[in-house]
Amino acid sequence: MAVATTDVLVVGAGPTGLVLAADLARRGVDALLVERAAGLFPGSRGKGLQPRTQEVLYDLGVLDAIRAAGTEYPTMRMWEGAEPGQEWDMMERSEPSDQVPFPDGWLIPQARTQEVLHARLRELGGEVRFGAGLTGLAQDASGVTAELDDGSTVRARYAVAADGGRSTVRGLLGIGMTGETVDAKPMLVADVRVTDDAPVPDTHWHVWPKAPEGTVAFCPLPSPDGGRVFQLVAQYTDESALPDTSPAGVAKLLASRTVLSEEHVAEVLWASDFRARAALADRFRSGRVFLAGDAAHIHSPAGGQGLNTSVQDAYNLSWKLAAVLAGAPESLLDTYEEERIPVAADILGVSTRIHRSETPVRRGGELRQLGIGYRESALTVETRTELSEDALRAGDRAPDGRPGGIRLFDAFRGPHWTLLGVGTAGLPTLDGESVRTVSVPAYEAYGTGVFLVRPDGYVGWAGDGAEGVAEYLARAGVVAGR
Ligand SMILES: Cc1cc2nc3c(=O)[nH]c(=O)nc-3n(C[C@H](O)[C@H](O)[C@H](O)COP(=O)(O)OP(=O)(O)OC[C@H]3O[C@@H](n4cnc5c(N)ncnc54)[C@H](O)[C@@H]3O)c2cc1C
Repeated sequence: MAVATTDVLVVGAGPTGLVLAADLARRGVDALLVERAAGLFPGSRGKGLQPRTQEVLYDLGVLDAIRAAGTEYPTMRMWEGAEPGQEWDMMERSEPSDQVPFPDGWLIPQARTQEVLHARLRELGGEVRFGAGLTGLAQDASGVTAELDDGSTVRARYAVAADGGRSTVRGLLGIGMTGETVDAKPMLVADVRVTDDAPVPDTHWHVWPKAPEGTVAFCPLPSPDGGRVFQLVAQYTDESALPDTSPAGVAKLLASRTVLSEEHVAEVLWASDFRARAALADRFRSGRVFLAGDAAHIHSPAGGQGLNTSVQDAYNLSWKLAAVLAGAPESLLDTYEEERIPVAADILGVSTRIHRSETPVRRGGELRQLGIGYRESALTVETRTELSEDALRAGDRAPDGRPGGIRLFDAFRGPHWTLLGVGTAGLPTLDGESVRTVSVPAYEAYGTGVFLVRPDGYVGWAGDGAEGVAEYLARAGVVAGR
């Protein structure tokens, strides 16, 4: 039987697999993305992109498409039966600033996000092999051998499990999940097209907090054909309830708990039920196989963190895989798990807290994921000793800005590292392909100094001058100083 060979096998074409495969393609890595389903996932599920995720998508060159296909979060309208009541902004809204160009969450159905990522992957020369589910996996010292349910075999140097919360790969590796049920009561989620005369304006996110059998939220979604589509999320007060996800069941639920009648439901495009869980994989790596996204951590949907955390796993891992395949030391790959497990553990705590909160929690602050960093990572080197509390340090997200008219996010954009001199002179000459050198005047977000920005937008090394940076890069296997 023919065995396909590739450098990286990515299993699962959800947001995690698509970001990973697109970033690997951008770096010229030979990768194969296999997906069990016949096509992309069709539902709205993870519909909120947090500011940090938007920055990642800007770097990947898809943010314009994401913005064109999405919208701002609408104001919430609380109802009591047929009576509209108080209005409330769940999302904190802020003005864009030089340092934070995308300060607010962006509403876009997961299916649209996946379509945009898929288009970008294809543009970069990659593709998804649909109808190819992984069923078997073995690894040895030099690679991984995977069996797919289309009868084919793939041999790869590394594999990434981006195959979601019920990850087949995680099961085959025997990696356990530690966690808990956040809420034993079931929830139903569905995408519902309503008739033109349905009495729920598209301007608001409608909520019936006191509906007798459980809270209902009905959020308008941007729809490519201009139709009136809403995401329904219904809770149940009864733990033993069995949500009816059939179109008739969804219409009945809306008629019994909201202002809509069954006739207002024109079509149920997708429906599913679940119980909120929070769980973290015991490891994110086993030899040559990595877990990323929901395969590594499962969240309550409260707080909109699952997809966002997943995208950032992929973004942390892809450049490291590419670097190791190009000759960097294998130990670089250990920093994926080292950096991402604490982040995922923290975010799981936040999602669970929001889910269990008795009062509505305003979304902003930590949910934006802008404060996430890797100060404790083995990859982080801060050489300065007398820094103020709020100074930007090695390990932190490298903020945007336009010092001296240079847009920093444009300087960082692409697969390279950036050696950024801020208000300093005398940067060394480095291999310009892997490391670009940029000098700007002193800028308050950075102060002054030399900052080596990783391909994923975090400061890897910082110093008053550039002494030591070439050694850092050489040790990381990136480039030798010249
Ligand atoms: C009801 C619900 C509501 C949610 N709401 C939000 C929200 O508001 N905000 C947010 O950020 N997140 C939300 N999430 C979470 C978000 O949807 C997930 O975090 C996100 O989809 C994770 O992406 P992923 O690519 O890791 O996994 P998935 O999206 O699950 O993708 C995994 C892919 O792998 C494929 N696959 C599975 N097994 C195999 C196999 N053996 N071989 C090949 N392919 C395989 C699957 O078909 C699938 O396409 C929600 C989730 C649910 C269930």
